[in-house]
Amino acid sequence: MTTFTDLNLNDALQKSVSQEGYINPTPIQEQAIPHLLSGKDLLGCAQTGTGKTAAFALPILQRLVETGGRRGRIRALVITPTRELAAQIKDSFLTYGRYMDIMTIVIFGGVKQLHQEKELKKRPDVLVATPGRLLDLIAQGYVTLSHLEVFVLDEADRMLDMGFIHDVRRIIAALPRRRQSLFFSATMPPAVAKLASSLLRNPVKVEVTPQATPVERIRQSVFFVDQKDKGKLLEMLLADREVSRALVFSRTKHGASRIAKNLKRRGVSVDAIHGDKAQNARTRALEGFRSGKVRVLVATDIAARGIDVENISHVFNFDLPNVPETHVHRIGRTARAGADGMAFSFCSGMELADLKEIEKTIGFEIPRDRENEFHSMDATRGLVEGVPASKVKKLREQERHQRIRKYKESKESKKRSESARKPHSSKARSRPGSREVQSSESRGEKSRNRSHPLRQRRSRGNSKR
Ligand code: AMP
Repeated sequence: MTTFTDLNLNDALQKSVSQEGYINPTPIQEQAIPHLLSGKDLLGCAQTGTGKTAAFALPILQRLVETGGRRGRIRALVITPTRELAAQIKDSFLTYGRYMDIMTIVIFGGVKQLHQEKELKKRPDVLVATPGRLLDLIAQGYVTLSHLEVFVLDEADRMLDMGFIHDVRRIIAALPRRRQSLFFSATMPPAVAKLASSLLRNPVKVEVTPQATPVERIRQSVFFVDQKDKGKLLEMLLADREVSRALVFSRTKHGASRIAKNLKRRGVSVDAIHGDKAQNARTRALEGFRSGKVRVLVATDIAARGIDVENISHVFNFDLPNVPETHVHRIGRTARAGADGMAFSFCSGMELADLKEIEKTIGFEIPRDRENEFHSMDATRGLVEGVPASKVKKLREQERHQRIRKYKESKESKKRSESARKPHSSKARSRPGSREVQSSESRGEKSRNRSHPLRQRRSRGNSKR
């Protein structure tokens, strides 16, 4: 079996990995590290949990020491989609590089910029960043990438899912042409492959599957339940002492907050993590969950991405994801490090089609749990209060269109009545002191707009993730 010594890592790195308790490199480390040390570009198909962070952090640290490039300049840049992942990657660089004179800092959005500006002024060697904040700081002149030697694009598929593609392209355009590039993605749909080929030169390809294959190691159950009963079902299942550390997935941020609030009211030790929460509240929730102080963590997919917490005994899919691969990501949070795990999925009548897609992807039918008081025959048949889900979806869609039409009509009629009043208002504008009248009117218009149904709907739509 390969050891870290076989990988030609220097003494400082070997000392820190052995302090971390790593004995043998994981498959991605074994395959990637030798190529990265020789300066090759890399296309890595691997997800979180495979040891990919060390697979790039170790050779980057070694290279920065060996090549002895210009100190006081950013020489390695890692971009990653979420703040949690960015913070974890920075921690890994600090851990592995603890016996080296290399400075790593992290920057991400959602917090004030000032502290990050100060950190950047200390002239780090390695910068870990989320795309939006990085571009802001480049634009303001706090970050210069002209001396960059290594670039890592992490979780590329998730970057694209989250709509960061333009930001990523702008960052790539700001990099020097001569550099080593590393590209990691859990999946490789065509758009991701295209981005990879635009970034990499003659890359080595490494593909690994997570050590614990969810399909094999995780015991799964589906509960057919009406939407209104999901909260009670969750509470009932959480009452089991075997549920020592549970991650509950919600499709929306509002949903995550609601689930956590209801559980808290019932005396469950719970916290929530999603994009609407301030960064320090997210960090606190995650630390509480990691330390075992908090037994249940409710999360949205994006907020949970990259969270590395061991010993999660149960994953609950409060809502089924509408992308089958997300189901695999979610349930892969349990049964880490060889332990067994359980994944319970709640399926309402509206979600039956999603369940079918998931089962097609994983290649088998998930065992059903029908022996519980919340079992719904309606849900098993794809019905919502006796009405087929497809019909309910159609009706909801029609209602949505009606609301939009009504809104547009009212806007049109308002415009017409305003233009009918116009000659009068232009006279008013020519009178002295009329500016105050005008501006208070436009303020009124603005505040009216703020309460428009479409505006509210849009902001609700945006907060879906
Ligand atoms: P990652 O995929 O980078 O998020 O890593 C997942 C987890 O595996 C982290 O908790 C690492 O500390 C751990 N890990 C990484 N490499 C090794 C290794 N060679 N041996 C044991 N654990 C490791």
